[in-house]
Order: sequence, then structure tokens, then C-alpha cells
Amino acid sequence: MLTETTYKQPLIIAIDGWSSCGKSTIAKTLAARLGLRYVDTGAMYRAVTLYCLDHGISPLDEAAVVAVLDKIHITFDVSGGENICVLNGRDVEKDIRTMRVSEQVSPVAAISAVRRALVHQQQEMGKAGNLVMDGRDIGTVVFPDASFKLFVTADPEIRAHRRLAELQAQGIVVSHAEVLQNLAMRDQIDSTRADSPLKQASDALVLDNSLLNHDEQIEVIMG
Ligand code: C5P
Repeated sequence: MLTETTYKQPLIIAIDGWSSCGKSTIAKTLAARLGLRYVDTGAMYRAVTLYCLDHGISPLDEAAVVAVLDKIHITFDVSGGENICVLNGRDVEKDIRTMRVSEQVSPVAAISAVRRALVHQQQEMGKAGNLVMDGRDIGTVVFPDASFKLFVTADPEIRAHRRLAELQAQGIVVSHAEVLQNLAMRDQIDSTRADSPLKQASDALVLDNSLLNHDEQIEVIMG
């Protein structure tokens, strides 16, 4: 059971895993239960990608992406109990979740200068502790000394099914095949890039949630 004496201080919970494994849902619940802040680092890579697309910059043009990094200011806000990603003062929470961004985000996230800038900001956010952060490199690179590390995995078909339901609930028209293909492409780029590839930290608790509902997952983790 989590008690103040059983975790390293400052408390940081690092959650990594494959695309659309439900990391953010787990992270939000843990944050609410334990009274911690929640940071969605995927939103930060998505915001950089959105900025590039909105400014006619190809995510594949590394020099052009790096050249605009100092014009990109990402913060988080809370509205109606939900975390909101804010890009240069604008609420972009919806825009960063579109397929347009999902299709281009992994090449942007593979650029070392982008990672350096965002990892620095994430480490600053973690200085005060009391944080749940999810992403791909949190337990391996951002906070290698995190108090708890979780690595989430699930069957790709089940992940695509869940993601499709989320997108459809937002009114986004997309097929199961498109979603499945996007997850496979992101997983492939994220796990094979040279800089901080997605991998399981050796001291992470692995959770395969293919057959677990939300409450069951939280019970396993809290246990
Ligand atoms: O978590 P989410 O699926 O929103 O992340 C979108 C993309 O951002 C990932 O596919 C990955 O390319 C990138 N990412 C990353 N490192 C993180 C978080 C996300 O490279 N810590």
C-alpha cells in the first residue's frame, strides 16, 4: 500500500507505455486519488507538432522545426476539472488530439533538440515533486529516479478499439483500420528512434491491461 514512508521523496510517479494504452486515464485517477499534479507529456509533443503544421512547417524538416522552438510556449491549465494544454496562450486540447497531429507527431518527437527542450521543461515541473507524469521516456530519461514506474501495454487491436471509441465520442470521423495503422506507425517510430526510444525501465511494474477494466487496473497499481 502507498504510504508516505514507502516512497522516495519528492514523490514522482512515471507512467510509460505504448500508444493508446490508457496511460493518461490511469495517471489522472492516480493523481486525483493521491492528491498529485498530472502532466501529459504527449500533449507537449503534440503541441509542437500542431504549431509546425499551423505554420506550414513540415515535421520532417528538422532544421525548420528546431528554428521555431523558441517561439513555442506550452503550459497546462485546468478547466472544468480537466487538464487543458495551452499553446502560446491558446487552448489547444482538442486540436492536438486530431488525426492530423497524430499522423505527424512521432517524427517531431524523434528530433533531439525538441526532446531536449521538452525534457528540460518536464524536469523543471518535477522539481517540486507530487507529480504523475506519463509519456514514453519518463521512467528512463526524464525521471530515472522516480518513486514508482509503471509500464503499460495492451493488445494492439484492443488499443485501436479504445482509441476509436474516444475519437468517435469527440465527433471525429475515422476508421478502425486508420487508427490501428496510426498506432502501429507511432509505436514503430517511438521505439526505434535514436534518442530516448520507448522502452521499459528495468525497475518498472509492467501492466498488461488488455483484459482489465479501469477499476481493476487501479486496484492492481495501488496494491
Ligand atoms: O501520449 P501520446 O500518444 O499523446 O503521445 C503522442 C506522441 O508523442 C507519441 O506517439 C510519441 O511520438 C511522442 N511522445 C514522446 N515522448 C513522450 C511522450 C510522447 O516521444 N514522453
